[in-house]
Amino acid sequence: MIVPVFLPHLGCRQKCIYCNQHHITGKSSQEDIRETIRKALDPVGVRCEVAIYGGNPFGLGADGLARLFSLFANYREKITSMRISTEPIVPDAQTTDLLKDHNVRTVELGIPVFSDEKLRALGRHHTVRDLYDTHEALIQAGLTVGLQVMVGLPGETTQDIRSTVQHVLRLKPAFIRVYPLIVLRDTPLHTAFQEKSFSPLSLAEAVLRALFIYLHAETQGIKVIKMGLTENEFLKGEIVAGPHHPAFGYLVRSEAFYLAVTKVCEEHGLSGQISLLVSRKDVPHLTGHRRSNLKRLKEQGLDVDWRESDLPPGEFLICAPEKIADANFHSREDRGGSEEPRKAYLGVRRRKRRSDNEGIRAKGNWHLDAIAMLPF
Ligand code: SF4
Repeated sequence: MIVPVFLPHLGCRQKCIYCNQHHITGKSSQEDIRETIRKALDPVGVRCEVAIYGGNPFGLGADGLARLFSLFANYREKITSMRISTEPIVPDAQTTDLLKDHNVRTVELGIPVFSDEKLRALGRHHTVRDLYDTHEALIQAGLTVGLQVMVGLPGETTQDIRSTVQHVLRLKPAFIRVYPLIVLRDTPLHTAFQEKSFSPLSLAEAVLRALFIYLHAETQGIKVIKMGLTENEFLKGEIVAGPHHPAFGYLVRSEAFYLAVTKVCEEHGLSGQISLLVSRKDVPHLTGHRRSNLKRLKEQGLDVDWRESDLPPGEFLICAPEKIADANFHSREDRGGSEEPRKAYLGVRRRKRRSDNEGIRAKGNWHLDAIAMLPF
């Protein structure tokens, strides 16, 4: 069990232009933090992992970090391990020792874009090099490192998305999270939005960009553990605009399924009725949010039904029924006693032949086949 302890902006050195400053106290008092920890951990009756989110703990420096950990002292028996989310600030040996002493096993590093110039424009105080050095120092200290990347930043190009993928694949973090940029109230980005100098991505575009990162990471063995923002009490009411959706990750994965089925059908020239065999886990990805995939496939001439199978998740098989044996519809026996040969023939066709694509069995993999369909 992971228990999140949300400490908004603790240790932040700056105001990133998209981050909601509404809750910033800059220097949360020790009492405030103690109270937040108490509220998070007192109700938990089992041993758990604690996740410190919402700020920049490495910005506290080694002494500040030691003070933060000391506030968890009363819960030492309850806490099995800790994970923290932070900006990449290269940790010294004192800091990595401190992390290990307090059973921090995982560190998540935020890097919205892999360009120093664009990082500066976002108000960030670190460079791409800092990320590499921080990653390396944490790996050397035996910690697990994950990355948090973003899509939809101001002026973002397809090259930025490709660059994110290249760096992620080079760094090979244990996992990544992908966040679409949304406009939060009372931020410089909100002002830019009001002045019409910034427009957030549409939901559909954000899904495609996140999908590009997701597919490349997953096919290279890097787990994508989260896509989209987690709705929490701090976020509620603060979203002004942008591609926010409570099931963003599901939208991304089901878009992959839609693209993959489209590609395989195009390759095999399939149209009309098709049947898919899929893992039970993939049925929601096939149907899409509110059956949107089925509707879109229907619009492009594919009438899809499906059956659950023991295929591994991610794979699917498109089947069209076997061609029916030619029956002699001139024989009354073959017509089931019917006096009307054509009617009987059509009846059998309707019952047995459900597709114009008879006998075709086409394999697909929604990770691999969807990549080729993306416009990046
Ligand atoms: S994005 Fe992270 S580092 Fe930037 S202000 Fe927000 S919490 Fe702090």
